[in-house]
Amino acid sequence: MTKDKPSAPPAKHVPQRTCIACRKTGVKVRLVNVPGVEVVVDPTGKKAGRGAYLCLSRVCWDNALKTGRLAQALRTEINPDNKAKLLNYTAAFGNSRPQA
Ligand SMILES: [Zn+2]
Repeated sequence: MTKDKPSAPPAKHVPQRTCIACRKTGVKVRLVNVPGVEVVVDPTGKKAGRGAYLCLSRVCWDNALKTGRLAQALRTEINPDNKAKLLNYTAAFGNSRPQA
């Protein structure tokens, strides 16, 4: 009966995946700056490179791209083509409910 511990969060360092647009934590999509190429979505979260996280929310992607926050977070510039591609990705989110 000693294994019945309360489920306290582990004390070790857990990287917080904060959405760069709304600063919420939770389910995120990772975007990676592939040097010399462009910013790509990284669904596996395993690509090497500087990454940033965004919610599965179109609003956040919009904000992050339009305010340049994504470019800033990735220390790069995102050309219009690349932006369009990324925004295109948000179409997959469809009319997902706004996250509370
Ligand atoms: Zn967000």
